Amino acid sequence: MPNHIFGRSTKGQLPTAVAGDGCYLIDSSGKRYFDGSGGAAVSCLGHSNAHVRAALHDQLDQLAFAHTGFFTSDAAEKLADRLVAAAPEGIDRVYLVSGGSEAVEAALKLARQYFMEIGQPERHRVIARRQSYHGNTLGALAAGGNEWRRAQFAPLLVETSHISPCYEYRERRDGESLEDYGLRSANELEAEILRLGPESVMAFVAEPVVGATAGAVPAVAGYLKRIRDICDQYGILLLLDEVMCGMGRTGHLFACLEDGVAPDMITIAKGLGAGYQPIGALLVQGKIYDAVASGSGFFQHGHTYMGHAMAAAAANAVLDEIEGNNLLSRVREQGDKLDAALRAEFGQHPHVGDIRGRGLFRGVELVEDRETKKPFDPARKLHAKIKANAFEAGLICYPMGGTIDGVNGDHILLAPPFIIEDAQIDEVVTKLSGAITGALAA
Ligand code: PMP
Repeated sequence: MPNHIFGRSTKGQLPTAVAGDGCYLIDSSGKRYFDGSGGAAVSCLGHSNAHVRAALHDQLDQLAFAHTGFFTSDAAEKLADRLVAAAPEGIDRVYLVSGGSEAVEAALKLARQYFMEIGQPERHRVIARRQSYHGNTLGALAAGGNEWRRAQFAPLLVETSHISPCYEYRERRDGESLEDYGLRSANELEAEILRLGPESVMAFVAEPVVGATAGAVPAVAGYLKRIRDICDQYGILLLLDEVMCGMGRTGHLFACLEDGVAPDMITIAKGLGAGYQPIGALLVQGKIYDAVASGSGFFQHGHTYMGHAMAAAAANAVLDEIEGNNLLSRVREQGDKLDAALRAEFGQHPHVGDIRGRGLFRGVELVEDRETKKPFDPARKLHAKIKANAFEAGLICYPMGGTIDGVNGDHILLAPPFIIEDAQIDEVVTKLSGAITGALAA
């Protein structure tokens, strides 16, 4: 294992990445890998984008860094204005950080401070969902419901309640309409709030389309609207974590725009810097900012690299590319084609139980038995074999084992660059199919 990386599952030597070329990464032997997941839904523009590179050179020539304790920068102000202009209604303040976990961590602390400022100090509890991942720092890890990531750190984690995910494939009952299922699932939040005592709950956290723990599982229509109503009824803040599914991944700059729901807070990262710089952001409604500004006047938080000018310049250049090249409509078009290609290849496959997702954010769930939806024995580590086979064949994808109390199956997440061509969709599906066949035969 290379000296500078701890804890990756790869036991052997990792190849050394030396270059990027559009949708491909190239290693030191010259082998090309199609970046079918951007690592984890990061590289939305692909690699070596000329406009982003030029913007970074320009920014470096002007200003790399000035500490936010003393200065703001044109790049950071411009980025904040653009994000606010595109965000759901009511969102009008932006807090720039260095990644997803930092954004979630900031959101949880700001939620707490908000309630202190408005005189409701008893509100401190967070409710989230079992099938979720919100980051690896202690607060964000506490919010997430992913058991295997949490298990060994549990004593250090703040207690969080977890309700069921909105996971149609496994949780909708026979004969239940989508609408009824969405309401039943959302109503679990109300039951949990009442169990905990409404006056003690500060926030509900959810990914509109679940990424890392589930493989692109969107909430059913109506679910998030009911969640919004419940949060309003009990005075609880709604935090939507769009670190993975935001920034155009689903074909909308913010995934929740498609659900017609405006949260109190949104976190984004990954596609925001598209891998060109590490950056994340917390976006909040004015009422939250105003409470702090007119109260103690200072958010009790901060990181050295927040609002970094180079990172903000990269994100501005990413937004230029998304807007200037109509990439959101391209994501919807190519996403439909990827979905159709996955269904053509795997629709009748005896071990593919579900194909799902939105835009260029797609998941395939594997099962031992399609009828009973029984997952494969986790000890088979099917997902790890698929990952290795695909990598060998020159495809980077994101397979994961079942994670919701052993209930869901191995699944593969695909999140290719927005610039993916039709022929490359075929390349991805063909290589993935070969990797699955090989893993099932092993
Ligand atoms: N939230 C979600 C929904 C994520 O998918 C991730 C990363 N996979 C995070 C938070 C944490 O982001 P980061 O790895 O940038 O800290």
